[in-house]
Amino acid sequence: MEEKQKNNNKNDKKQYILLAIIVILMIALAIGIYFLTNKSANSEEKEIAYTELIKEINEGNIEKIEMTVGSTTAKVKVKNVEEEKTAIIPSTQAFIEFVQQQKLDGNNIELIQNPTNVFVSISSTLFSLLPTLLLVVLIILFFKMQGLGDKGKVYDSETTKSKITFNDVAGLEEEKHEMIEIVDFLKNPQRFNEMGAKIPKGVLLCGQPGTGKTLIAKAIAGEAKVPFISMSGSEFIEMFAGLGASRVRKLFEKAKKISPCIIFIDEIDAIGSRRNSSGGAESENNQTLNQLLVEMDGFDTDETIIVLAATNRPEMLDKALLRPGRFDRRITIGLPDMKGREAILNIHAKGKKFNNDVNLKSIAEDTAGFTGADLANILNEAAIIATINEHEAITNKDIEDAVKKVTVGLEKQSRVISEKDKKLTAYHEAGHAIVSSMLETQKAVKEVSIIPRGVAGGYTMYKSDEDKYYISKTEMEEKLVALLGGRAAEKIVLNDISTGASNDIEVATNIAKDMITKYGMSETLGPISINTEQDPYELQLLGDKFGDAIGAEVKILLDNAYMVAQKLIIENREKLDKVAGALLQKEIISAEEFQDLIR
Ligand code: ADP
Ligand code: ZN
Repeated sequence: MEEKQKNNNKNDKKQYILLAIIVILMIALAIGIYFLTNKSANSEEKEIAYTELIKEINEGNIEKIEMTVGSTTAKVKVKNVEEEKTAIIPSTQAFIEFVQQQKLDGNNIELIQNPTNVFVSISSTLFSLLPTLLLVVLIILFFKMQGLGDKGKVYDSETTKSKITFNDVAGLEEEKHEMIEIVDFLKNPQRFNEMGAKIPKGVLLCGQPGTGKTLIAKAIAGEAKVPFISMSGSEFIEMFAGLGASRVRKLFEKAKKISPCIIFIDEIDAIGSRRNSSGGAESENNQTLNQLLVEMDGFDTDETIIVLAATNRPEMLDKALLRPGRFDRRITIGLPDMKGREAILNIHAKGKKFNNDVNLKSIAEDTAGFTGADLANILNEAAIIATINEHEAITNKDIEDAVKKVTVGLEKQSRVISEKDKKLTAYHEAGHAIVSSMLETQKAVKEVSIIPRGVAGGYTMYKSDEDKYYISKTEMEEKLVALLGGRAAEKIVLNDISTGASNDIEVATNIAKDMITKYGMSETLGPISINTEQDPYELQLLGDKFGDAIGAEVKILLDNAYMVAQKLIIENREKLDKVAGALLQKEIISAEEFQDLIR
């Protein structure tokens, strides 16, 4: 988060609070005045209708009428009635003339006309003007926010000259490497354009909050020495329709003026969520999103603007945003591994005094699952704790206390991984890796990790193969076995199964379905293709028995694969334990390390 932007937000908030106070005060005043001027009308006293009053006067039943000049209410004393009544007089002038005429005619009415109560009359005037006043205030405010009130002042985005460079970003070597071409382009757009090279306009940075997405975006700006304009997606969402869209337009207008530059949109999912047809806030989002799409399409690559957007939920984004020419490049920023954490700790240790007993490496070992922001936070907390305890320098105990403090916060967000979960993930991933390495057709393991990524607790990556045109039935069957290897390991080692395998099972089921209904790989059903997704009636055409047969065939494929997976796990239990143990210790193991372990 940008410091200045925070202040900006605060100012925005202050404005809102001030507005709210004004509105509340006005409403309170209005209610007060209403009760003051209508006190008699609203109290227990009985009212008398105007026509009734005229009738009673004509009949000589009224003793006394008391009025205030300028007011439309009158107090009326009816003969033989204790209580005074109130009456609303539509036209006071005509009424007074009528009463005076009655008096002349011999009607014994006492007419008292009190002088105007200044306060009441002013406040009643105010009261009647109040709705108009409120409206005017709202309109002025609206135009101000639209930016029509003050020419050219863009206060909804923040421009900074970033001094941050790649040196300030620890770990993330691959990600930095991918960004280098963008830096080069920003520095020297001509060269790229002359060559006819297309540089991505939009890059999507995916990852949990605190993993350094903003940091890396700023570092790109810093490396290229170009301005950095940032805005958060949630700021585009406003209560006034069309405001979000106009903010997007202004943001890009400004960027074009100062290009070459970087636009950074944090939390893009706030505007870029999948469109749906419901109205209200949704349609406002649609306008904002549409404007963003228009702007992304509107500038040319020679405009030298790169739009970086951050999100933790790329799957939520509207597909239109991800089309070529928009955010067509995606970089996933995962949680740092042990080395990465040590590097981050080292960066944030700069400028702090440490005792000799401090070992940042061992802290890195104890902080699996922590983000870069969490780690920066730990060292800052440690410095605070050391200061409070009047230590000469930060001690190891101070850091341990800080880790505990930050961990408690993370536990509340349920982001700390328990030892039990870690063990489960380690065996699950080791299961995939071991099982697939025992299968003839499966690709070699590239990396196994128990560092959480997105919703997954860990991952097993495979080396990519040379391009292949065909996949054999055996290969698909073995793929099913590898996919179910995680679940099989959980079952056999821990004698329990978890939800961690849900994605594996989904993928496996889809492959099995395709084998039967798309590639005609079933012995009994033969070569047949049924597109159940596009046309659900196609299945009905073939009859219930056929549908049952497909289900049975899919089940057989999956059951067989699960059996093979369990068998492989049992046979290779020793290797499995080794790999899982190594994962628990190191969190991530490379292809070579894996080969060494299973040799
Ligand atoms: P995000 O944008 O992903 O939510 P930020 O970039 O705002 O995360 O990170 C918050 C802070 O955490 C950064 O300002 C920095 O102090 C620290 N941080 C995160 N990742 C790293 C990293 N790889 N190297 C150094 N510091 C980091
Ligand atoms: Zn799995």
